[in-house]
Amino acid sequence: MSIFYQDCWIEPKRWNCMRFHILTLFPEMTDSCLNASILGRAARNGCISFHTVNIRDYTENKHKKVDDYTYGGGAGMLMQAQPVYDAWKSVQDEEGKSVRTIYVTPQGRTFTQEMAEDMAREDSLIFLCGHYEGIDERVLEEVVTDHISIGDYVLTGGELPAMVMIDAIARLVPGVLHNENSAETESFQNGLLEYPQYSRPPLWHGKEVPEVLLSGNHKKIEDWRLEQSIRRTRERRPDLYELYIKKNLQI
Ligand code: SAM
Repeated sequence: MSIFYQDCWIEPKRWNCMRFHILTLFPEMTDSCLNASILGRAARNGCISFHTVNIRDYTENKHKKVDDYTYGGGAGMLMQAQPVYDAWKSVQDEEGKSVRTIYVTPQGRTFTQEMAEDMAREDSLIFLCGHYEGIDERVLEEVVTDHISIGDYVLTGGELPAMVMIDAIARLVPGVLHNENSAETESFQNGLLEYPQYSRPPLWHGKEVPEVLLSGNHKKIEDWRLEQSIRRTRERRPDLYELYIKKNLQI
């Protein structure tokens, strides 16, 4: 099996990295995204690997067709079961074990940071991207372990949702972020949104950096940050704030 690396396909150097398999009809949408920035660097360093599978390569149709009309009528085409199943099977066979398979769909549970943490513990994951009206239900019944949505709206395809999820999961894999701590202080990690942050210069457009951040007093800075996190969460995400208060009152 090969992985996409700097505009070409190469054999994976290390199998102990976390492997992301993406089943899609539009590999060009995912490859450029995965090869850039922090994820691209992590793949080059061997912490994670990406393997894009073009579902069309697996169709038995001589015209390379992968979709057809839906039984019962209605607008739009549906991705057929055979190419999706064979593409999925090729990955399972390469892995030599059963791999958690995520169908990105508006009909799934909404993706959260907690789910990202859970999925980051897997050795490998398969992302199945739908297009058009979606995918024949029979193959979904056979291969999918998790139905996950990125929000209550409908996109044209599953590639962007898969990229969103892979980004959120991959950054939690050890070694992907240079500073191991930087994933720990982010929003949602402790049930709160992150506190406001500032960089140089200390005065910009008449606005000063809060004095406490320049004090060098780590305890005071920590207290200020927690207070700001709580305030921001209460203002912007009252739903999260309520959960946080309930959880912390129980302790
Ligand atoms: N007919 C489907 C329905 O009503 O639930 C919508 C199909 S949508 C146009 C095509 C594909 O985009 C889906 O199969 C899915 O893979 C992806 N998709 C669209 N919106 C999504 C969302 N909010 N979260 C995850 N995937 C989504």
